[in-house]
Amino acid sequence: MVYSTPLYRPPSEASSLILQITHGCSHNACTFCGMYKEKKFYIKSLKEIKSHIDELANDPRIIKRIFLADGNALAVDTDTLVKTLNYIKEKFPNVERISIYAGPKDVLDKTDKELKTLGENGLELYYLGIESGSDKILKMVNKGVTVEEMIEAGQKIMNNDLKLSATIILGLGGKELIKEHAVETAKVTNKINPTYLGALTLMVDPRSSLHKKIEKGEFQPLDSVEILQELEILLENFELENTVFRSNHASNYLPLKGTLNKDRDKLLDMIRSALKNPKKAGLRPDHLRGL
Ligand code: SF4
Repeated sequence: MVYSTPLYRPPSEASSLILQITHGCSHNACTFCGMYKEKKFYIKSLKEIKSHIDELANDPRIIKRIFLADGNALAVDTDTLVKTLNYIKEKFPNVERISIYAGPKDVLDKTDKELKTLGENGLELYYLGIESGSDKILKMVNKGVTVEEMIEAGQKIMNNDLKLSATIILGLGGKELIKEHAVETAKVTNKINPTYLGALTLMVDPRSSLHKKIEKGEFQPLDSVEILQELEILLENFELENTVFRSNHASNYLPLKGTLNKDRDKLLDMIRSALKNPKKAGLRPDHLRGL
């Protein structure tokens, strides 16, 4: 079998060839995530990675984009990563973009020199889940890092001339922490100023521990109107320079895209008009979210 399943990739990597250099997630403890629950984490050896590349090289398509998975694939040591990148270029000579899932701890574990070397060898786009800018929420969801560490990780990617695609999750603080989540997440994002920013909306995986909390009544998820209210506060607090913003994932109620802060007022108008008349706003119904 070429892949070990389940297999995940960011929505923007839909047309990329996925190369699994790790198995599972090195953290695997976020309360909202059930993606790799049944996978025990391990890092593949260079031999295993090369044999996986050899299998994938049978693909008759011209491959221009390659995404390195599984969760936190950046946990692989730099020497193996560089050798992997060079082998990718040998087997896929038309590749133009190589990207990776990067956990904040794994980013912090790399030196600036290592990140630069990875960039020089073609690994230029890093997907980092910021999730929230509130320490209270990061702790509550067991993200495993503080806000300060998350900022440091994000800035480290940007300061080494790499591209950063950051993700935040609307609704992650529940009803109790709407304002804190929105305001603090905007502050953290402003400090990092990522190349791309995706706002997903919380969809609770039945395999996750957050699902159990909801069943026990310990966490109150937001409804569609509350999500839009949170998004409005978030956008009002953004101070970004040329960040490509997307909130058009299948989990979102209202699809939005633009460049921040240039398009902020236009996006805010769309949110406010949807809030004035949610029934006529064409919000994605709950049963179609995620599809
Ligand atoms: S959200 Fe990311 S870091 Fe957290 S458990 Fe899931 S894959 Fe791992």
